[in-house]
Amino acid sequence: MQVAVIGTGYVGLVSGACLADLGHTVVCVDVDAGKIAALERGIIPIYEPGLEELVSRNDEAGRLRFTTDLSAAVADAELVLIAVGTPARRSDGHADLTYVRSAVRAIASAVVRPTIVVVKSTVPVGTGDDLEQIAAAINPQAGITFVSNPEFLREGSAIKDFMFPDRIIVGVEDEAARARMAELYAPLVSGGARIIFTSRRTAELTKYAANAFLALKISFINEIADLCEHVGGNVKDVAHGIGLDSRIGLQFLNAGPGFGGSCFPKDIQALVKTGHDYGSPLRLIETTITVNEQRKRAMARKILRACGNSVWGKRIAVLGLTFKPDTDDMREAPSITIVQTLVDNGAVVRGYDPVGMEQAKEVLPPIEYAGDPYEAVEGADAVVLVTEWNEFRTLDLDRIRQAMRGRAFIDLRNVFDQSVLEAAGFSYHGVGIAKRRAGPVIVEAAA
Ligand code: NAD
Repeated sequence: MQVAVIGTGYVGLVSGACLADLGHTVVCVDVDAGKIAALERGIIPIYEPGLEELVSRNDEAGRLRFTTDLSAAVADAELVLIAVGTPARRSDGHADLTYVRSAVRAIASAVVRPTIVVVKSTVPVGTGDDLEQIAAAINPQAGITFVSNPEFLREGSAIKDFMFPDRIIVGVEDEAARARMAELYAPLVSGGARIIFTSRRTAELTKYAANAFLALKISFINEIADLCEHVGGNVKDVAHGIGLDSRIGLQFLNAGPGFGGSCFPKDIQALVKTGHDYGSPLRLIETTITVNEQRKRAMARKILRACGNSVWGKRIAVLGLTFKPDTDDMREAPSITIVQTLVDNGAVVRGYDPVGMEQAKEVLPPIEYAGDPYEAVEGADAVVLVTEWNEFRTLDLDRIRQAMRGRAFIDLRNVFDQSVLEAAGFSYHGVGIAKRRAGPVIVEAAA
């Protein structure tokens, strides 16, 4: 099929390259001329494992190209995918649909035949209905059909997630569009992928419900982690113990510094707004937002405590800055709140991240940056592991310890066992792992 993808970011570029790899002819469009020029020269503007090779293979095969010319791309396409950003609106936190609407206006002005427009961007329930009206007002003759096909890929494993999805959700209101979507994904379905057809509104909501549930799961285990520290438990064992229950599952039960990234924070905020708009509040999700915000600050306080309640003038090494490993994405990364709090409290912070340092410089307060973890810890009073990049799992702990001035190791991802860090001479501070069994708080009855 001839496919145009509007928006060549994490979702658009991965989707476009994967669809080309499945045999479709794909043109990726972006308003960012610099990004398109780089892609035309084979430079991938984001870090995503395997993407460079996938893009180059399909580029060479003549199935994938890049352009800023939306009109020409859309005019030739049988199917147009929208994968532009939907950030949180500054005024009220709801999804900002400016980019989606602008893309739809441009598409509606450019189409010359009946076209299916597939919304991959995460958009609030009912957006498909609104977009239909916008397009019809601009080009009533065109016969544009809107489909919701939310994307569930995760940065860091995006290609695998696209090629081997847990499920593909397609919201359609029209039989012809359903048939074309089945055709688009036929190579994946024949390989065993499940495709679920539903109404457009249900598909839109499914994406938000999935992200909200996962965010809730993270906040849940983080609160259990806090309780573990108070009652003398080990959250890793609790998570394992409950996660082996097939009704619960092991994923998203790693206690840590709270969730960040380009999706969860903004999506759950938007879902809460939708709930308010429809008079159907989502109290659990509202609480999740609060718990997560407090979490990041609580982690900064944990570091302060580990440093004897003051970091003034102390050197703190921060390992891992991106919101999770295997991505260069710094959007809403917990490191932002943590580093800012440390700097505000007078610490001298030196950060290191395997791929995200340039992006980090744009959002973090001014700090020092190191070329590797060992340089980061040179003379440090404390080291804080914020993002669990694989390269940190094999750190030479003796070398780290010797390079440091102090010995506090704050492992916010529970990468290391307490015994391993203590054997290497560190004073250990994990998440949800009690140092000693605490006694219960005895509440005595009033006389
Ligand atoms: P992104 O910011 O990385 O990329 C968006 C791209 O769209 C940018 O390159 C921008 O220049 C381009 N753009 C904006 N307006 C345009 C227009 N009118 N025409 C052409 N290009 C335009 O965004 P992303 O992370 O890929 O997210 C895209 C959507 O997918 C969002 O709704 C997001 O919530 C959703 N999503 C993201 C992920 C993820 O992991 N990043 C996963 C699932 C869903």
